[in-house]
Amino acid sequence: MNQAYHYPEELELLTYPHPILRRPAEPVTLFDDQLAAFCRRMLDAMHQFKGVGLAAPQVGVSRQIFVSDHGGLMAEQDPPPSLERIWINPRIEQHQGSTTYEEGCLSFPGIYAKVERHDRFTVVWQDLQGAEQRLELNAADDVLGIVVQHELDHLHGKLFVDHLTTVQLTLVRRKLKEMEQAYKKATGKAGSILRR
Ligand SMILES: [Zn+2]
Repeated sequence: MNQAYHYPEELELLTYPHPILRRPAEPVTLFDDQLAAFCRRMLDAMHQFKGVGLAAPQVGVSRQIFVSDHGGLMAEQDPPPSLERIWINPRIEQHQGSTTYEEGCLSFPGIYAKVERHDRFTVVWQDLQGAEQRLELNAADDVLGIVVQHELDHLHGKLFVDHLTTVQLTLVRRKLKEMEQAYKKATGKAGSILRR
């Protein structure tokens, strides 16, 4: 345990149906300078890709890390505030109720759909020093609660399209097929496609 992990210098965004997106991520055990530098690179990459959240598997690192900055979603504030956050080994402890929000994902360019999520929940995670943090969120009122649940799914190999109803899936099926074909053309492999 606590072995140094080699984090990539250049971060490449992986899209559906890359198989790493389906792999459950490993916990982070070493809270060193390499981890901090990687998280900084993830935040910069997320801004560059114009995302509000980015999970490590999306850049090919199967570790339980995601970053977020939901400032751009706070339309009432101009200019948007910087609300950068780093979440390591996150988990949801308890949840209550549900709410829906139209989500997109950097790994599914051009696909948006309403997804049902927990409304109130507690998220527990570790910061860059390894100290445990906790926060109660109310996703119906605070979009950070949506971002956290979406990104946390990535760490379990779960993707937002997995939450779609059959009808919703029908609407995006053609785009998914196009992405599957593009991946196969680029790599010669089938990728990790939806199972329904
Ligand atoms: Zn995503």
